[in-house]
Amino acid sequence: MQETLENRPLGSSDRPLRVAVIGSGPSGFYAIAALFKADGIEADVDLFDRLPTPFGLVRGGVAPDHQKIKNVIRVYNRTAQHERFRFFGNVELGRDISVDDLRKMGIPGEDLPGVHSATEFVGWYNGHPDFQDRSFDLASARRVAVVGNGNVAMDVTRVLVRDTDELAPTDITAESLEVLRKSAVREVVLLGRRGPAQAAFSPQEIKEIGSLEGSSLLVTQEEMDLDEISSAWLEKGAAPSARRNVTYLTEIAGAEAEAADRLVTCRFLVSPIELVAGDDGRVARVVIEKNELYASDDGSPRPRGTGETETFDVDLVFKAVGYRGVPLPGVPFHERWGILPNDEGRLQTEPDGEVVPGQYVVGWAKRGPTGLIGTNSPDSTATVKKMIEDIDGVTATPDPAKAPERIVELLRDRGVDFVTFDDWNRLDEDEVRLGEARNKVREKYTAVESMMAAVNRLR
Ligand code: NAP
Repeated sequence: MQETLENRPLGSSDRPLRVAVIGSGPSGFYAIAALFKADGIEADVDLFDRLPTPFGLVRGGVAPDHQKIKNVIRVYNRTAQHERFRFFGNVELGRDISVDDLRKMGIPGEDLPGVHSATEFVGWYNGHPDFQDRSFDLASARRVAVVGNGNVAMDVTRVLVRDTDELAPTDITAESLEVLRKSAVREVVLLGRRGPAQAAFSPQEIKEIGSLEGSSLLVTQEEMDLDEISSAWLEKGAAPSARRNVTYLTEIAGAEAEAADRLVTCRFLVSPIELVAGDDGRVARVVIEKNELYASDDGSPRPRGTGETETFDVDLVFKAVGYRGVPLPGVPFHERWGILPNDEGRLQTEPDGEVVPGQYVVGWAKRGPTGLIGTNSPDSTATVKKMIEDIDGVTATPDPAKAPERIVELLRDRGVDFVTFDDWNRLDEDEVRLGEARNKVREKYTAVESMMAAVNRLR
């Protein structure tokens, strides 16, 4: 039989695979890199983001005083140089993220003024356009409670207690730096619902807090007396990082603070059960309940309340209890797990349900909000492997409606002012230039309108 365009395998050079990637965070870029690297596969990739700027949490989440982590952008830029890559920034396919989509603690007082999600605070100081209208009353806050023991809790704590002169040369926004300069915060109390052996923070993150100039990390000896369940957990079950966390915290336990220092106090095995308002209606006190651990069915230590409570004064509360995925219109979503149901990356109608052909999922939307940036590289590659297995040998009549130029026409017809990767590169240079004038690595545009005005000016 004579070979025609119609029966050539999908993914060959004259029948390239056409892939749309929604979201330009690390897992999206790693998936694209895996596609471009796949043996014998040619793929045209269109990457969509609802913001004009790429890189997801690397731009809007990674702490400004952790610039080195942002070096992964170099890898993404190499991917973006591929001739079969296109970026469509400022194109919204999903619904906007909202604070309601963030995980709740489900306790009275959670919505009082002065109680914020860490995600809002992180987005605000990182210049994410969705969070620029938030305000944080740091000028009249002396004691802040941070709920949660993950790396986001570490980031928030560090930004609150670090000397602002050290933050000044980073890409933190000028507005948030001004607010932080006027901060009256003297103490951050970190509240972990489980023990030090179950803390989710990385050893280097807690050590960094312990070695900040002008602040002291405090934990009592008593807090570090491990219960039997934790000791057994450290012996078998716990990750090596858990042992390193316990070793470090044990080393510093009982140390005294310098008089002038800001304090970071670790409290373990406590859950906030109520946030109480003061006369001005703002949060003024937090009621915590002491927990004990029990071994759950899968052997992991879980917390349960003992009934013993304690109350202390606070001026602000940040909830750093994890992220939740947000649904995309028309795409199956598992409400309770906050992920898109999938079988090793193949989208399903429901958990263990039918596979939805041609749709795949990577990153936190695939596995939940776990892991560091680099975790997404093997994870995205695994999904792309499944994708390539699925197209193996598939022949299909090319659909003219899916021709690459149709996307551009469609967006133009709808009046969408999309941002290309070249546009982004000019915006990027402009931000760096604005930063140079202020002796910092970058000054970010923080509103979609100002980003788009600059994109149009620089075109
Ligand atoms: P996370 O690592 O999942 O930590 C969430 C913390 O909140 C855990 O300590 C969890 O305790 C606690 N928690 C959850 N629900 C709670 C509740 N109802 N009451 C009290 N505490 C509660 O999440 P994350 O800090 O948001 O970080 C997300 C991911 O990004 C992580 O993989 C993290 O490592 C990564 N990240 C990395 C960096 C970095 O490398 N510098 C920076 C930021 C984020 P349990 O363990 O008991 O559930």
